[in-house]
Amino acid sequence: MTPRPFPVVLSAPSGGGKSTIARALLAERKDVGYSISCTTRAPRSGEVDGVDYHFLPRAEFDQRVARGEFAEWAEVHGNRYGTLRREVEKVMGEGRHVMLDIDVQGARQVVTAFPDAVTIFIVPPSVEVLVARLIGRKSESEEALALRLRNARSELLEAERYQHVVVNDDLAHAVATVVRIIDEESVKRERLPALGDEVDVVVARLVEGLVRLESSKSP
Ligand code: 5GP
Repeated sequence: MTPRPFPVVLSAPSGGGKSTIARALLAERKDVGYSISCTTRAPRSGEVDGVDYHFLPRAEFDQRVARGEFAEWAEVHGNRYGTLRREVEKVMGEGRHVMLDIDVQGARQVVTAFPDAVTIFIVPPSVEVLVARLIGRKSESEEALALRLRNARSELLEAERYQHVVVNDDLAHAVATVVRIIDEESVKRERLPALGDEVDVVVARLVEGLVRLESSKSP
């Protein structure tokens, strides 16, 4: 019995390590696909358009907002980010769960748009680790870094809105925990197709079998 595909929302403060977790999980699970977001921020070195993000000029992003193309969008750290409805529908149309690596504002909108979404908040093991990870990234200007650190505080306070909280103390352990959450959600009764239909098929076969048995017994 295959569960209906559902969105898996991963959020974390910047530097929480969620993108690394998302990448590891996607490599491990073929039944989970990724929704490539749109953003107005400039690509970091090594990032590829259409793979990491769809990098858009602000005007084009806003046109897409006006056309209602986004399932959710938000302004994060001074740039705009959004999830295209068609990205989510494409992955779920392939029968796979769709992972959304999005911020806390976007997560709230996704829960409204897709009430069956599973929400997971990734927390760093300590504030020191969070700061060290952000500084270690070296891709941000000092100003952008300070903004991300300030935002981390309000993002952490949102953790209580999520269904699941995973501490990213060790990558393999955090990935295994997210995998377990997806597996447990997949067998929830309300995510499975109507059991009644399957039971009806089995009952019909049993009745046929009984009828054959009875008729083979009769003289
Ligand atoms: P970064 O610039 O480091 O790639 O991402 C910054 C933040 O924007 C992260 O918290 C990331 O999860 C979030 N983000 C990425 N894509 C989206 C999106 O489509 N929608 C929203 N709301 N946030 C996003």
